[in-house]
Amino acid sequence: MSAAIPDLVIVGAGIIGLAHAVEAVHRGLTVEIVERDAEAVGASVRNFGHACITAQDPALLETAQASRRGWLRTAAQCGFWAPEAGAIVLARSPAEAALIEEFRDRRGAEAVRLLTADEATSRLGGPARTPDPTIVGAALLPADLRVDPRSTVATIAAWLADQPGVRMHWRTNAVRCTDAAVHTSRGVVRGRHVLVCVGHDLDLLYPKTAEDNAVERCRLQMALVRAPAGFALDSAVLTGTSMLRYAGMAKLAAAAPVRAELERGNPELLELGANMMFTRRPDGTLLIGDSHHYGLTAPPFLDEEVSAHLLGGISRILGVDRLDVLQRWQGVYASSGRTDVLRARHEPTVSSVTVTTGLGMTLAFGLAAETLDAL
Ligand SMILES: Cc1cc2nc3c(=O)[nH]c(=O)nc-3n(C[C@H](O)[C@H](O)[C@H](O)COP(=O)(O)OP(=O)(O)OC[C@H]3O[C@@H](n4cnc5c(N)ncnc54)[C@H](O)[C@@H]3O)c2cc1C
Repeated sequence: MSAAIPDLVIVGAGIIGLAHAVEAVHRGLTVEIVERDAEAVGASVRNFGHACITAQDPALLETAQASRRGWLRTAAQCGFWAPEAGAIVLARSPAEAALIEEFRDRRGAEAVRLLTADEATSRLGGPARTPDPTIVGAALLPADLRVDPRSTVATIAAWLADQPGVRMHWRTNAVRCTDAAVHTSRGVVRGRHVLVCVGHDLDLLYPKTAEDNAVERCRLQMALVRAPAGFALDSAVLTGTSMLRYAGMAKLAAAAPVRAELERGNPELLELGANMMFTRRPDGTLLIGDSHHYGLTAPPFLDEEVSAHLLGGISRILGVDRLDVLQRWQGVYASSGRTDVLRARHEPTVSSVTVTTGLGMTLAFGLAAETLDAL
């Protein structure tokens, strides 16, 4: 094989493709990246920028912790914002307080630090604002990380483009991968191994793999709002709905009363699949979300009622009458009820990695190390 052939061709320049490229560079491999757009605009730039380490299912905890180390190493190398700010899970009822206590008992008091109601509200408050008076306590998860989703992927791509063993092919659509070659809208890109990281569009290249694993599209409504006066918390802020979505908490015995309470008091939040949470970007604006709707395709329409529930709920938490919305958008990620991470080998030298739940930012660097160990 010619020396000009790279060790790895990666299809997709979202966080999964780029994390694999960064890991490959660390291992001294040469890489070419094929991306259909002029810059990443997929799930990796539309999310909260929350690496949710501690609340992972025990089966994914090691991958998440390895990913955390990968994020910190990459942030130092590329120079992007990645504060070790953790996450705060608010408890707003005795049932939610009982769930974070059970979580603390499982994971230990270092990993899950309980806060009093005063400690939690003082982090959320500001001049002329009183955060939600129903807050009874909170759990601080110090291992969780934050990044800015709007800028991080582009910064990593720019760093990669400067590395001697890396070549980027932007605005180049992969139409087919055969052994050791990617057939694109601009010709064939060859490599010793091809790694397909195309997120929710896996079904467009590998429909049978997607169908066999029940992969569909999950769409989520998000908004960017102006932060209320005095709010300067870099931690992700999660609520009772989040407790039911992250397996580390959702599988505990105390989750059932939390679910029952939401079914009684706030059934619309369950209906829209809410994970009501928010994160602050370095410019001070807040990313607010989210809802979950599933299907094979993702209709483009945003539902104002869904937004109203999420914005209303977060306004209450922050103690403001309304939040000043700057942008709204829909994010889409791959989802499968069967697995959180779908790895497939399509040909001897062509494989794919797809995160099939809303955890790609959390797991990216841990998964990349595992993929390259196995190549
Ligand atoms: C609203 C929202 C909130 C989320 N919040 C979080 C969070 O806080 N924490 C967390 O861990 N995860 C979160 N997630 C999930 C996370 O964002 C995704 O799991 C992750 O970004 C998936 O990365 P990816 O690289 O696989 O996909 P993408 O970012 O979608 O990238 C795939 C890339 O492949 C390219 N591509 C596709 N097909 C082709 C082709 N044929 N040829 C060339 N290029 C192609 C696309 O253009 C795209 O750039 C969230 C997701 C959403 C939508």
